[in-house]
Amino acid sequence: MIYIGNHVSVSAGYEAMGREEVSLGGDTFAFFPRNPRGGRSKPASPEDIEKLKELLARENFGPLVVHGAYTMNLCSAKEEVRMNTREMMRDDLLLLQSMPGNFYNFHPGSHTGQGAETGIRQIAEGLADIIAEVEDRSGKELGNIILLETMAGKGSEMGGTFEEIRAMIDTAEALIPGRRIGVCLDTCHVWDGGYDIESDLDGVLAEFDRIIGLDRLLAIHLNDSKNICGARKDRHEKLGQGRIGEEALRRVVQHPLLQNRPFILETPNDDEGYRQEIALVREWMQP
Ligand SMILES: [Zn+2]
Ligand SMILES: [Zn+2]
Repeated sequence: MIYIGNHVSVSAGYEAMGREEVSLGGDTFAFFPRNPRGGRSKPASPEDIEKLKELLARENFGPLVVHGAYTMNLCSAKEEVRMNTREMMRDDLLLLQSMPGNFYNFHPGSHTGQGAETGIRQIAEGLADIIAEVEDRSGKELGNIILLETMAGKGSEMGGTFEEIRAMIDTAEALIPGRRIGVCLDTCHVWDGGYDIESDLDGVLAEFDRIIGLDRLLAIHLNDSKNICGARKDRHEKLGQGRIGEEALRRVVQHPLLQNRPFILETPNDDEGYRQEIALVREWMQP
């Protein structure tokens, strides 16, 4: 089995997100601790977070996949953007220290003309510094694994190949030893990046395993794509209505090497659409 859920809004509070996901039929979810376009994070009450944790345990939820703001960029050519990103990630991860055992997923960034090598170095240095600061300020080891998201590779976007992700992990872990970094595989992004999960899912997973290691693959973003494989576009589509298609996405959900992980829908849907997609994925989970 897998865990399935979607993005929910933090605007009504933490426990409210859990209730919302239960009402949609899910058993995991994603949320932005702050506005997805950046900005200040909402102050969270410790009691509200405790209530959410009780609900998650009671309802047998899988790990949550918290999402860093889209505006974050650890490898921007602009120092101000890099520094703001570090602050946002540090604050998000500090907040999440009271919710250990979950994942914090983010887009590695865009090198904005600096070149991939510089991008990889800045991402790794950023991660190492952020982790050190969170552990120092909270007086505790980082409680949540940070997930680098596989990206479509549009423009100067980093993380469009498994090799780049591997290089980010290796460079970061050389700076701060320990295993605090994993990967979130987005089906739309890898497809748009040229990995043909429609006709060769086994081959793509074998390549992921060879280059990164499947033990690092800890969460899935389950999306169809509006574009053809290799388009490098990153336009999500509803499950079964895009170019990846229902058969291929069903094989992803059923794949033995991908079980026991949280799958997050980032498809263009309203609540009713998510309720239906969650039910559809639950059908696919039946043997
Ligand atoms: Zn995604
Ligand atoms: Zn995307």
